[in-house]
Amino acid sequence: MQNIATVLKQLGIKKLNESVCTGVNWISAVGSTNREIVSPVDGKKIGSVVFATETEYEAVMKRAQSAFPIWRAIPAPKRGDIVRQYGNVLRTYKDQLGALVSYEMGKSLQEGKGEVQEMIDICDYAVGLSRQMYGLTMPSERLNHRMFEQWHPLGVVGVISAFNFPVAVWSWNAMIAAVCGNVTVWKPSEKTPLSAIACMNLMKLVLEENNLPEGVFTLVNGDAGIGKMMAEDKRIALVSATGSTAMGKSVGKTVGERLGRSLLELGGNNAIILSEHADMNMALRAVVFGAVGTAGQRCTTTRRLMVHEKIYDGFIKKLIKVYKQLSIGNPLDENNHVGPLIDQAAVKQFSNAIEQLKKEGGKVLFGGKVLSGTGYESACYVQPAICEARNTYKIVQEETFAPILYVMKYKNISEALAMQNDVKQGLSSAIFSNNIRETELFLSSAGSDCGIANVNIGTSGAEIGGAFGGEKETGGGRESGSDSWKAYMRRQTNTINYGDTMPLAQGIKFDLG
Ligand code: NAD
Repeated sequence: MQNIATVLKQLGIKKLNESVCTGVNWISAVGSTNREIVSPVDGKKIGSVVFATETEYEAVMKRAQSAFPIWRAIPAPKRGDIVRQYGNVLRTYKDQLGALVSYEMGKSLQEGKGEVQEMIDICDYAVGLSRQMYGLTMPSERLNHRMFEQWHPLGVVGVISAFNFPVAVWSWNAMIAAVCGNVTVWKPSEKTPLSAIACMNLMKLVLEENNLPEGVFTLVNGDAGIGKMMAEDKRIALVSATGSTAMGKSVGKTVGERLGRSLLELGGNNAIILSEHADMNMALRAVVFGAVGTAGQRCTTTRRLMVHEKIYDGFIKKLIKVYKQLSIGNPLDENNHVGPLIDQAAVKQFSNAIEQLKKEGGKVLFGGKVLSGTGYESACYVQPAICEARNTYKIVQEETFAPILYVMKYKNISEALAMQNDVKQGLSSAIFSNNIRETELFLSSAGSDCGIANVNIGTSGAEIGGAFGGEKETGGGRESGSDSWKAYMRRQTNTINYGDTMPLAQGIKFDLG
C-alpha cells in the first residue's frame, strides 16, 4: 500500500477542519470539537475531523432542499450520466479510496478495494436503471378512460451509515436515490469520517465539471446526535439507516411518529446449516470466510453453524485445523487473513461475549484470546473463536460484532430449520447440502425466514443485483438491486378521461337531473 499521507493527498484530504460538505463547498464547523481518527490497524492517528453542530446541519439541509427542484427537473437518463461519471472517477481512484477504507476501518486491502468496486458496480446498475423506472398501465373499467401509474422522486433522502462499510452503503443508497431524482444528505459513521470525506471530494469533481448545484449530494460528519436530528427532520422524506438494531429501533420510532419513511438495514445473526449431504470442502471454505472475514464485522457474518450430528466431530476437527492456520495481523499485508476489530470497545465486547458464553454453559473449542505485542499495538486484534453452544443461550441470540462462531449439533432438517429461525434477527442464511429435498425445504415458505437464503454459498457477501436486506429485527428494508429503487420514489396513480361523459367508478350514478 502507498504511504497513507500520499493517499490522503491524492484524495484531496488536506485540512480536516471542515466537517460538512454541500457537494461542492466545504463549510467550516464552528464551536465543535475535534475528533481524532485513529487507525485500528496500528493505533496511529490518521487525522482529526471537526464534527458538525446543528448550525452546519441546517446549512446543509437548506442547500439540499434548494437543489432538489433543479435535480428533479433533469431527465432521469441525464441524471444517470452524472452517476456514470462518478463511477468513472471511482475507477480512477479505486486504489487510493480502497486503501483509505482499509486503513481507517481495518478491513483487508482486497476488501477495501472490493468495497470501492461495489460502488462502481452500483453506479453502473443505476445508470441502466435511469432508463428503466417503469410504471404499469392497467385497464380502466370506465369507457374512454386510461389508467396508469408513475413514479416521482421523494425529495431529500437521508443516509445514516455504519462503520463496517464506510463507503459502499452510502453509494447503494445515494446512487439509486439520485437517478430517481432525489438529493441526499449523508451522515457516515463517526468512526470512519475520512473515507466519507474522500467520497465527497471525488463527487465534487463531477458536480463541478457538470455545473450542477451544490446540495445534490451532501455530507454531514457527526455522531449519533446528527443521526437523531435527521430522524426527527420532517424535511427528510426517507431516512435510510444502516447499523445496530438498537439504532434502527430509535430511528424507526422517531421517523414513524412523523409518518415519514424509513429503510432499515440492521443487525444479523446468520446461520449455516451443514447437512450430512454437503460437499465438505466447499462448506469448510464458506464457513471460515463467513465467520472470520472482515474479523466478523459484516452484517452477514456467519455467527451460528448447525452441523448434522453424523458429521459434527469430523467437521469441527477440520475447522479447528484451519483456524489454527489463520494468520492474524495487519490487514494491509495480503498474507494475513484476519485484521483488527474497529476499536478497543469492540474487543471488550468480544471478551465479554466469550465470558458470558462460558457462564451459560458453553465451551470455547478454539481461540477467543485478545492479542498483544508486536504487530498488535492498536490493541484491537483478537483470535477468532469457535465455541460450542446452544441456540437458546442468551449470548447466542445476540449479535456480537466480532469473530465468534457458535457451533451446535442437529438431528434432522426440521430441527436445524427451527434453530436457524429461532433468533430475533433475519438477515442472511445458508444451507450446504446436495440433497434437493433439504435445499428446497430450506427455500420454501416453511424454510428460512431471512431476507437472504443461499444454497451451497455462505451467508456473507451479496451481489448488488439482488435486493439486499432482512426481516424481523434486521429491519425489513431492501436496498441495492431488483426493484429496491421503488423505496426512493412515490407512486402516483393517474386516470385520464378522454371521452365526453363523466361515468363514476363502481357503476355509481350521481344524477344531477
Ligand atoms: P451503530 O448502530 O452504532 O451506528 C450506525 C450509525 O447510526 C452511525 O452513523 C451512528 O452514528 C448512527 N446512530 C447511532 N445511534 C443513532 C440514533 N439513535 N439515531 C440516529 N443515528 C444513530 O452501528 P455500527 O457499530 O456502526 O455498525 C455495526 C452494526 O451495523 C451491526 O449491528 C451490523 O450488523 C449493522 N450493519 C447492518 C447492515 C445491513 O445491511 N443489515 C450493514 C452494515 C452494518
